[in-house]
Amino acid sequence: MAALLCVCLAVSLAVFLNLSNEPADAAAASDVDSPDSSIIVVNKDRPLAAEYVPQDLVDAGGMLLRAEAAGAYTRMVADAAADGVAVSAVSGYRSREEQSRLHTSYIADYGQEGADSLSARPGYSEHETGLAVDIGNPDGLCALETCFEGTAAGSWAAANAHRYGFLIRYPAGAEHITGYAYEPWHLRYVGPETARGVRDAGVTLEEFLGLPAAPGY
Ligand SMILES: [Zn+2]
Repeated sequence: MAALLCVCLAVSLAVFLNLSNEPADAAAASDVDSPDSSIIVVNKDRPLAAEYVPQDLVDAGGMLLRAEAAGAYTRMVADAAADGVAVSAVSGYRSREEQSRLHTSYIADYGQEGADSLSARPGYSEHETGLAVDIGNPDGLCALETCFEGTAAGSWAAANAHRYGFLIRYPAGAEHITGYAYEPWHLRYVGPETARGVRDAGVTLEEFLGLPAAPGY
């Protein structure tokens, strides 16, 4: 028993030392594979690790986002308000279980193919990263509908979200690359530099980062 305990402690210590020796911060910041990076790419070709749960989720107006995204979101909403535009949060972080329930409800309403064009299967949603937020108008006008783009919140976000590090992640006409129909309400935090680059290039995040299209599972 004592020997077993000793082995466990030694393994724990080795894991701890290995983790603390890794230059994780610099590498993770620009890593499309790391869920701790702001440019992690999750799509129908790139699921999240099954055990991943963000460790720095904080409240951002009644929903959870990772701390950096939450700070940017809070600044963005305050600046929109200063411009006279009210932006409300519809949905932020979702656990895998919540995503599973949501996707199952879409399948019931639209069938598998319809559900897959509107909602991610569990393990494949950007909402599970804590870096994605669905926004809306406080009165619910055009909530989660294409016409959201023409509303006050939708048009303000289209013109300004990139300045806070957010992309309209599923643009119109890009379903063959992103795998999703146009979602003018779905914002994804990637950081201001990447958001500006993607916007200036007029492409999807996959194209900007040189990743293959992910139209389906
Ligand atoms: Zn969304």
